[in-house]
Amino acid sequence: MNAPVIQQNPYQSMLDRFNIAADILQLTPSLRQKLQQPEKQVLVNFSITLDNGEEKNFDGYRVIHSTVLGPSKGGIRYDTGVHLDEVKALAAWMTWKSGATGIPFGGAKGGIICEPIELSKTELERLTRAYTKALADTFGPDKDVPAPDMGTGPDEMGWLMDEFSLLHGKPVHAVVTGKHLHSGGSLGRTEATGKGVSIITLLTLKKLGFSPAHTTVAIQGFGNVGLHTALFLYENGLKVIAVSDIDVALHNADGFDIPQLIAYYNANGRSLLGYKNADAIPHESLLTLNADVLIPAAKEDVITARNAADINANIIIEAANGPVASDADAILNQKGITVVPDIVANAGGVTVSYFEWLQNSHLESWDIDTINQKLEEILSASFENLYETARSLSLPLRTAAYVIAVKKVAETLRLKQNIPGGAITAN
Ligand code: NAD
Repeated sequence: MNAPVIQQNPYQSMLDRFNIAADILQLTPSLRQKLQQPEKQVLVNFSITLDNGEEKNFDGYRVIHSTVLGPSKGGIRYDTGVHLDEVKALAAWMTWKSGATGIPFGGAKGGIICEPIELSKTELERLTRAYTKALADTFGPDKDVPAPDMGTGPDEMGWLMDEFSLLHGKPVHAVVTGKHLHSGGSLGRTEATGKGVSIITLLTLKKLGFSPAHTTVAIQGFGNVGLHTALFLYENGLKVIAVSDIDVALHNADGFDIPQLIAYYNANGRSLLGYKNADAIPHESLLTLNADVLIPAAKEDVITARNAADINANIIIEAANGPVASDADAILNQKGITVVPDIVANAGGVTVSYFEWLQNSHLESWDIDTINQKLEEILSASFENLYETARSLSLPLRTAAYVIAVKKVAETLRLKQNIPGGAITAN
């Protein structure tokens, strides 16, 4: 296995934030230990036949951080940079996300070390089926329910569902979410995370007294999350002045015509490269632009102690999981930047995944208005709870989000296992 170079350790970032909340909640050492470590870590190695007839080996992971609140839930990432500590961090963030938003799921995450753009569609199908076979005992609609993440989408989720169903001799739609509509997917799931990010952005602007029509935004990443966030914010009158993908970062001070940009991106093999109505800028400078709102929507650890002092935005909305490393928290707080943490900001995805799982489990199909209304209700309530907790305890939003989530999971575990000690409170 080629070990990737790890600059920041996302699992350490997760632990740093967890420990601050655990101190505030005065968790017992036993509860602390139980919640720091994943319940289960599975490493698999399997091979597939490539289109040219060669046999190729792959390493894959599935980490279940917690099943305290319900079946574990979390995406599957296909990327060359996948490593165990990243998957462990992502799994824990799923636990805290459900805890902070009241979704009755635990947390998990999976991944395969691979370069998905170098694999053909049939190779990706074989890869997904082989991974599913290797994890057939781990996945299950009432045990562990995967979803898409970086490098995966409805195709992979559909193949996973089909393989799992074949292995069990019956259709099991609820084993995975983020499927195509025809394979039992939910209306609104594809755009759910970006829609949720835009709902949270608008709520934050309102709290801080910004008018959407006079707000500028820079978005890093133009995949599922970044693209839909850009579209919904554009539709709500915000000016998106910078976007980027792995190939290029673009700046347009007048604001991008996002539907036109999306049309170009789709026609251009899903790349922003070569788009004319903008200036190419260095990737790094997108993060430090003079925009009111910065939305990192690509990957973890893009804002660290190295560049945090140079951030000029007033607000950071964490659309990606873990885009700010824990060593940057104090610097951003000192600068007075409002950071809305990932475990609330991007929870639209898991929320509509929960709706998909409910529809599959009850053989129902909800209309888009019902889904959007329920999504808005859950995110608005979570955001209000977050703001009120931060205000009443005088905490930054991130710490408040961890306090809400850790308290919920720890208290549930304490009651379930009759762990000694009184009720867990933050007062
Ligand atoms: P994706 O694979 O669809 O898109 C990722 C995007 O980031 C692509 O445009 C890619 O080109 C770009 N990118 C990668 N490295 C980059 C870099 N160094 N600079 C600029 N752009 C870069 O993935 P996604 O599903 O949109 O996920 C993005 C983030 O959001 C991840 O952190 C993921 O965990 C998180 N997230 C996703 C969902 C979901 O429903 N898909 C839900 C919650 C959180």
